[in-house]
Amino acid sequence: MSVLPAFDLDRPVSLSEALSLISEEAVPYNGGTELLLAMRAGFLRPDRLVDLKRIPELKRIEVADDQVIIGGGATHDEASGHDGIRATLPVLAETLSKLGNPRVRAAGTLGGNLCFAEPKSDVATVLMALDASVRLLGGSPDGTTTRDVPVAEFIVGPYTTTRTSAEILSQIRIPVDTQSRMTYMKYQTMERPTVGVAVSKSPNRTVAVIGAIGPIPEVFQAATLDDLDPETIAAALDVIEDLTGADDYKRHIAALLIARAIEKVAAG
Ligand SMILES: Cc1cc2nc3c(=O)[nH]c(=O)nc-3n(C[C@H](O)[C@H](O)[C@H](O)COP(=O)(O)OP(=O)(O)OC[C@H]3O[C@@H](n4cnc5c(N)ncnc54)[C@H](O)[C@@H]3O)c2cc1C
Repeated sequence: MSVLPAFDLDRPVSLSEALSLISEEAVPYNGGTELLLAMRAGFLRPDRLVDLKRIPELKRIEVADDQVIIGGGATHDEASGHDGIRATLPVLAETLSKLGNPRVRAAGTLGGNLCFAEPKSDVATVLMALDASVRLLGGSPDGTTTRDVPVAEFIVGPYTTTRTSAEILSQIRIPVDTQSRMTYMKYQTMERPTVGVAVSKSPNRTVAVIGAIGPIPEVFQAATLDDLDPETIAAALDVIEDLTGADDYKRHIAALLIARAIEKVAAG
């Protein structure tokens, strides 16, 4: 692997300090599992990095009856090992506990995963099925601006989100629906998923989210589980062909996983 290019480094200890430092030229980062790889490969060349790891608020995890809040700087291990998340959002905890490899789970964060918007993400697919939002804090001359954006609207293309270079993803906010049933199933031949399927059903919302197969996860809402037709959904997907499979092969796998996931959720 090539050498990491030289860069300047800031290490803020508060969100306000971090917000005053970041810009188009000064890029925030957390675990560095994606950013530093992209820099080594020469795809990105920021002059200055702003390390977010010393900011306590970004690590905070809060579990309440109606909502779970995960700091954008919580690692996959920290979130999956949190008792409240395991009890309240077991599918998310299970997904994070098996993602990537031990190094990625120990250093990589949920916020970094969403901000990088790599198409082969388990995290984005599961969070969209959970109807999660991200909280973005931005620096402004008069103080700090806050906006909440559903994950399904935050990721708009491969490696593309609606985050501006002046914003930090401070929280992932997940509504808790005690009547919801959910599963996540994936097919994987390399280090990231080839196809990931999340199906969730509650009295108010029935949804299938198909991720990793195309540029961004695709959300299919329906009135009931019976209205989610695996073949119709698989045929409608935007598929990227690559080393992990051709178009028709990936659609076939997706249809199988969707059918199995629906069956599992229906069985309770
Ligand atoms: C070998 C390997 C295997 C993987 N396997 C999987 C897998 O199976 N499933 C899966 O879902 N993912 C997988 N991943 C992706 C992994 O989840 C991400 O690499 C990780 O979560 C990124 O977090 P990070 O903190 O390291 O991000 P960084 O590399 O620090 O940052 C990534 C990007 O996000 C920005 N950023 C980071 N944090 C913030 C923030 N709080 N606010 C604003 N911008 C921010 C940075 O500017 C950068 O552009 C894999 C990655 C690797 C390297």
